[in-house]
Amino acid sequence: MSNQNYWVLFELSESGVKRVSLELMQKAASLAAQTGQKAAAIVIGEGASDAADTAYANGADMVIAVETKAAFEASSHVLCKLIEKYQPLALLIGATPFGRDISAAVAARCSAGIAVDCTDVKPLESGEGLSWLRPSYDGKLYADVHVTTYPQIGTFKTGIFKLEEGKGKAAGELIKEEIEVPASVLLTRFLGYTPDEALAQANIEDAEIIIAGGKGCGSQEEFDKLYELAALVGGNVGASRAAVEAGWVEKDRQIGITGKTVTPKLYIGFGISGAVPHVNGMKNSDVIIAVNTDPNAGIFKYAHYGIVADLHVVVPQMISRFKALKG
Ligand SMILES: Cc1cc2nc3c(=O)[nH]c(=O)nc-3n(C[C@H](O)[C@H](O)[C@H](O)COP(=O)(O)OP(=O)(O)OC[C@H]3O[C@@H](n4cnc5c(N)ncnc54)[C@H](O)[C@@H]3O)c2cc1C
Repeated sequence: MSNQNYWVLFELSESGVKRVSLELMQKAASLAAQTGQKAAAIVIGEGASDAADTAYANGADMVIAVETKAAFEASSHVLCKLIEKYQPLALLIGATPFGRDISAAVAARCSAGIAVDCTDVKPLESGEGLSWLRPSYDGKLYADVHVTTYPQIGTFKTGIFKLEEGKGKAAGELIKEEIEVPASVLLTRFLGYTPDEALAQANIEDAEIIIAGGKGCGSQEEFDKLYELAALVGGNVGASRAAVEAGWVEKDRQIGITGKTVTPKLYIGFGISGAVPHVNGMKNSDVIIAVNTDPNAGIFKYAHYGIVADLHVVVPQMISRFKALKG
């Protein structure tokens, strides 16, 4: 099994496996299928084996599960032990706060190269190693990073790869590993999270419909109308960086290269020009609708439907129309 398999570190939350881990699992499975290798989910934590079915359902051929109460503190140690034993080709990790910590720690401990915040990964034509794509210069250029050490580690934000239904397998191989965690590794103790309600509401990565507002909204009052529209259509509110910088909306709702990457079924952008750093965070949405007064706005190049109109007219009309439809 030396330097062959694609691994994904599963991140567990109270509501199960994090979406980004499943997206990466599907990507790893498709890479493994292309090259005749295997895709494995690595699960570290309490009830690690319980995630096995979810892993198979998203394409894993196998699951390596390590039961431990100290997942947060011990993951990098455990991962390095597993890497030493199984020698995977690549390790894909979600660019979450936890994933960023762990990926950097594992890379340092294992003296392995890492490419962070990638937007794609593919096998090199030579058959040796991988090409990791990551944006530079605000997404105007892409760097093709070739890592020469193993495992090749890459991190990806949520939404880079689309989570698709029916990509899975009915079953796979479950390997349960026991790894001793010496006291010297447990330098910190994780006590728990303090939930932040505003942060939870700003979870736009999971929204199927995003109503996004930009500088064209013109004021806080106008921007706030987007929440009413979003509630009526069962969606959530996103924003451009200019709207965030205007102070109308919190940074957790920013879409783009320095914000979040989203792939909703429907994205409607109001008063957003379509600058490259923004577009990089939403261009893979299933359906894109743009509302802008400028017929030459860049966003129209990416929109499936474009409305050249004043959002101050369109938004209230949509709100009253949806209200009427809802009776
Ligand atoms: C390092 C770096 C990172 C960045 N990261 C991000 C990022 O992650 N996300 C991001 O969004 N940006 C990012 N930016 C900023 C980005 O370059 C743009 O400045 C920003 O996206 C512009 O936001 P906007 O489209 O809302 O504003 P503007 O560019 O000011 O566009 C406003 C639009 O609204 C239209 N408009 C005006 N009035 C109306 C009206 N009444 N009705 C309808 N339309 C109207 C205008 O025609 C215009 O097209 C980054 C920039 C840098 C340098």
